[in-house]
Amino acid sequence: MKRAGVGISIFLLIIFIACPDQNGTNHQNNSITILYTNDEHGWLEGDGNYDGAAGMFGLWETREDYDGSDNYLILSGGDMWTGPAISTWYKGKSMIEVMNAMGYDAAAIGNHEFDFTVDTLMENLERLDFPLLAANIREKSSGKIPAFAKPYMVKDIDGINVGIIGLASQSTPISTFPAHVVDYEFTSYSEAVEIFADSARDKGADVLIIIGHITSNEMQALSATASSEGILLIGGGHSHEKVLQESNGVLLIESGAYMQNYIRVDIKYDRENHTAEILSYKIEANQNSTPDQSILEIISKWKNRVQTTLSQVIGYCSETISKSSVEMANLVTDSWFYTFPDADVSVTNSGGIRQDIPAGDISLETIVGLLPFENSIVKLELSGNELKDCIRYYIIGGMTSVGGYYLSDGTPIYDDSVYCVLTTDYLYSVTNNNFSLYDPIPEETSVNYRQPLIDWLISINTSPADPLNNYLDYTPRKN
Ligand SMILES: [Zn+2]
Repeated sequence: MKRAGVGISIFLLIIFIACPDQNGTNHQNNSITILYTNDEHGWLEGDGNYDGAAGMFGLWETREDYDGSDNYLILSGGDMWTGPAISTWYKGKSMIEVMNAMGYDAAAIGNHEFDFTVDTLMENLERLDFPLLAANIREKSSGKIPAFAKPYMVKDIDGINVGIIGLASQSTPISTFPAHVVDYEFTSYSEAVEIFADSARDKGADVLIIIGHITSNEMQALSATASSEGILLIGGGHSHEKVLQESNGVLLIESGAYMQNYIRVDIKYDRENHTAEILSYKIEANQNSTPDQSILEIISKWKNRVQTTLSQVIGYCSETISKSSVEMANLVTDSWFYTFPDADVSVTNSGGIRQDIPAGDISLETIVGLLPFENSIVKLELSGNELKDCIRYYIIGGMTSVGGYYLSDGTPIYDDSVYCVLTTDYLYSVTNNNFSLYDPIPEETSVNYRQPLIDWLISINTSPADPLNNYLDYTPRKN
């Protein structure tokens, strides 16, 4: 009895000393709330179905009681800024301002964080109020972690030290512009976690979590290591999946993409026994929100800027053209022949096409968001045989591979004939295809892959009476 009584007194004393406020209530919290997003991709604005950054922040305030106080941890799994023109045109600066205002504490480094070069990444870092985490990037020359990355951080959440280890995707060298990351190695996830879990603990971390730009399969593969390191959860990204599951006792989370959802995880920490457990988790759609006014104001400032810069209307569309449709693939690949009429074939990746063309006026802003990357067109000379090998995973113009290989004028593609082929410098330089093997000396055109579509659209002068939809080709070119 006595012991229990002493225990309770000490417990009460701790509560009282901990954080008495004017109401006499205890504010030293034993819980940590994580709000998590990944692959925001510059979707500051809602798209009609989802409510964008201001809506999400509104939901955090109303539904999750987020008041900026200490026991919330706001985290991103990376790929923050390449996307619609409002972000891409400013190389992510608008997204950074908004994420700062939303109180993000850290983000993993996504592959697309490198899209605008490492110099721009360094500039963006100066604007960010939170660090970019990746424990598995090394400079090839020195073996060191580069200046733009921190391997982990330890954040004091109301007296509980949370160690957050970051991971970048090992696919980064082929999923951003390869030349931008040629100086870096993207090393094993589990090795990095083993090293830096110890470092974080040495720095006093009571609770350990991972935020990584890694897919659900990669999270699952890492969960055994994470479990043995006492890591509670892994936040993922890159694959735009919705993930909320446990594996080897570790919670795996990923929120989809484009600020369409967020995940909330509540962690309980036992300050006496120094143990942590996950109390609850959920995923919420970013819908039916009351948008936060202060975030809305930042977004409208950037919206005004981008509209002023890219407001020029260059066409008209009577029905929405979906980004993943046959007609969109054909539209983009065919547009290149407007600038390069002597080329036979165009080849690009569907991943370079990032949003729909909505019904109505088509502005420059729409096309920048549709084709947001700084990729240029290169010209290659390939034999028919080589061409057939190179188009395997990609979308094509100037030819079909349905029922045999034919140019668009119906001429068969002969194995030994030589063809002039257009592709992007991005596809040319990734190593999981044979473009560079077959033509080691490409002709660099320095024409951005979106520019022909802009020029062609202006030239055909579409209108409500003669919309772009009249010019579309709905015939699949691949099986
Ligand atoms: Zn990614």
